[in-house]
Amino acid sequence: MEFEYTSENQQVLQMVKEFVRKEVSPQIKYYEKNQLFPKDIFEKMGNLGFFGACFPEQYGGSELGFLNLAIIAEEISKAHPSLGYAFNMQAMTCPFTILNWGNKQQIEKYVPSLIKAEKIGMFALTESGGGSDPAGAMKTTAVLDGDEYVLNGSKMWITFANEADVGVLFAKTDPDAGHNGISAFIIETNLPGFYAKPIEISSLGFMTRSCEVFLEDYRIPKNQLLGKEGEGFKIAMNALDYGRLTVSSRLVGIAQGCIDESISYANEREVSGVAIGQYQMIQHLIADMVVETEAARLLTYKSAYLKDKGEAATRQSAYAKYFASEVATKAARSALEIFGGNGIADEYPIMKYVNYANMLHFGEGSANIQRILIANDALGEKDANRHHIERKFSLSSDIHKVRL
Ligand SMILES: Cc1cc2nc3c(=O)[nH]c(=O)nc-3n(C[C@H](O)[C@H](O)[C@H](O)COP(=O)(O)OP(=O)(O)OC[C@H]3O[C@@H](n4cnc5c(N)ncnc54)[C@H](O)[C@@H]3O)c2cc1C
Repeated sequence: MEFEYTSENQQVLQMVKEFVRKEVSPQIKYYEKNQLFPKDIFEKMGNLGFFGACFPEQYGGSELGFLNLAIIAEEISKAHPSLGYAFNMQAMTCPFTILNWGNKQQIEKYVPSLIKAEKIGMFALTESGGGSDPAGAMKTTAVLDGDEYVLNGSKMWITFANEADVGVLFAKTDPDAGHNGISAFIIETNLPGFYAKPIEISSLGFMTRSCEVFLEDYRIPKNQLLGKEGEGFKIAMNALDYGRLTVSSRLVGIAQGCIDESISYANEREVSGVAIGQYQMIQHLIADMVVETEAARLLTYKSAYLKDKGEAATRQSAYAKYFASEVATKAARSALEIFGGNGIADEYPIMKYVNYANMLHFGEGSANIQRILIANDALGEKDANRHHIERKFSLSSDIHKVRL
């Protein structure tokens, strides 16, 4: 058991730091203030191989592996949490689901352009009836009509659906068959019958646009079915398992951002002639943040490590996602406490951390849903790893390549 970065991990980390300093920090505020989509930053991330970390070289991947992906997502989110969403859409839930479940034609057609961010991806599962029970809430239907499926219904909270070119979307092909009646489709958003409307959100520092998606007699060729009819629920759960890795990495990054900002502020800010970092109550907050963030990081890295080995990691991903979401929201609250009134000033990133930590508390399954999964597993009722599916493609993990 080794608990240190390899020289490759160090190289990746340095590359990301450099990228953030040169290519992101100088311009991200502009995008955030104007709520614009940073396509050029996404493309640069794609070209550096960030999104392709877990994809084989033959489809344009950088084969850096899951642990490096976790390190990249953490570092980017620490600096700019708004960019973290890119990892779910461009690296995990959209293209990785196509890689795992698609046929050769589908993979060749969609994966290389998604991981380079030439095309923008989305993952559309949640409906207005509730994201915690997607099968129960799903009303969207897909009916086979000759050589085409006709989709009707709507989706809720779909991140960047208004920018997306391609998506993995779930619909019921057999509404009476419960979980077994759901199928997955690769959809293209430029076809008639697709419409995405951004949801107005009430917070500061967001660049993220989540949308309501409407499908009205939306027709796609039947070869856009992903996997087999009825496999949709299995595909969705498998996708969320990978998505949870990037979400927990992003939460660890947010928590670390809170620590770094808080330490620097607590050392500088003087009240009653004393740096506030000298007050024991502030020290308690910092001590908890530091230890809890390290624990969340270790849980997250273990989940990535298991994935790199191709082992079942659903249990570990749920531990990591649940714990990291609690730690990040607590760290953001503590940072706000340490900053006092300045916490809400635009000059500091604290409100961004607060907002993104709270939003990610729900992403890829809320804390309650993770707890249910963890408790059912611990009590021996449902093995969390029972749906493990061997990946079709293994990365040459012994020769991960770092492209600088
Ligand atoms: C910014 C943002 C981006 C998102 N992006 C996407 C996306 O790209 N694609 C996508 O498909 N979805 C996306 N989502 C949806 C997200 O996955 C859901 O918000 C999440 O699954 C929770 O569903 P919900 O909001 O409908 O809450 P609900 O399911 O209505 O749950 C509300 C509350 O009840 C609790 N609860 C529900 N069931 C139980 C239970 N059995 N026991 C105990 N407590 C329970 C939940 O934990 C939660 O606290 C996004 C959401 C947000 C906010």
